[in-house]
Amino acid sequence: MSSIAPFTQTTDRSERTLPSDDVLYAALVKRDTQFAGVFVAAVKTTGIFCRPTCAARKPKRENVEFFSTPIQALRFGYRPCKLCDPMGSPGHSPDWLLRLIDEVCAHPEIRITDRNLRERELEPATVRRWFQKHHGMTFQAYQRLMRLSHAFGRIRDGDDVAAAAFGSGFESLSAFSDSFKKAVGFVPSMSRKCSIAAVTRIQTPLGPMLAVANDEGLCLLEFVDRRMLETQLDHVRSQLDVSLLPGANPLFASVRDQLSEYFAGTRREFDLPLVVAGTPFQKAAWEALRAIPYGQTRSYQEQAEAIERPTAIRAVARANGDNRFAIIIPCHRVIGKDGSLTGYGGGIWRKQYLLELELRHSSA
Ligand SMILES: [Zn+2]
Repeated sequence: MSSIAPFTQTTDRSERTLPSDDVLYAALVKRDTQFAGVFVAAVKTTGIFCRPTCAARKPKRENVEFFSTPIQALRFGYRPCKLCDPMGSPGHSPDWLLRLIDEVCAHPEIRITDRNLRERELEPATVRRWFQKHHGMTFQAYQRLMRLSHAFGRIRDGDDVAAAAFGSGFESLSAFSDSFKKAVGFVPSMSRKCSIAAVTRIQTPLGPMLAVANDEGLCLLEFVDRRMLETQLDHVRSQLDVSLLPGANPLFASVRDQLSEYFAGTRREFDLPLVVAGTPFQKAAWEALRAIPYGQTRSYQEQAEAIERPTAIRAVARANGDNRFAIIIPCHRVIGKDGSLTGYGGGIWRKQYLLELELRHSSA
């Protein structure tokens, strides 16, 4: 069983933890030059991403998503803004490069080979060096990423997965699937009857979380580096019969808001529609978790007794491990009989942080 953490195991080494969305949004609105190069802002309604200093009209807060690098924004299906050219380095982009990038953006479905470069009087080695230096990838990889980004954009606009893949220059669905998997970390499912669930990342004081939502509600919220995340994503896909694709869902804004309130100590319970799929036993175990008050803990034994299965302690522990809603369904509030913190999918240090946070704010 591989335990690849989606989105974190990419070739993009420049990923950083960003300041809070409040800080970033303020910088965006002020066109704060101090933040140039720190982040890019992607607009969900237009599918375009910009430098913080872009002269274009600023989007509404709820429509913005922040990324630490342009490459990440591309991976999530956004296209670079023509006005502020977030892919170029300001003042240093040679003309030939701007023309080339323009061409790739306008026609991502066309593959520009070394021979095509020479036809454009460009030296392939020069092009290769520039892309390696500025984007840490070959020109070919850059083109692949733009094709992928283009396909995401079309899927976001409602195109079906196959149409988007072929229309963006992929020769087969399996080629699209491979590229997708490399860029995003999980395989998109291709069934046409499937509906799409959107995936996004949410920054928290405990590191980035992955959120999945469809029209009915939130389907998953987990730390991106938790063990077994791939398995959990597989379960979401198969149990809900959905394709997972990076994108927007109106619910994500509420998830972000409620999480930041929780981490600020001002929220004790979450008010979000959850799409819970599991066996009757799992559902009973998760219900019992939700009944544990904020700032308190229970032992596995007590949880087993609460669902009237006093001997099913191991099964209860397993069900807690299968919980797909970290923090919201508070499996962190279950500890060993002797008070030890025992296992937690997101890591014991996070469990400890959450329990201390709740303790601090429940006595206030
Ligand atoms: Zn712009």
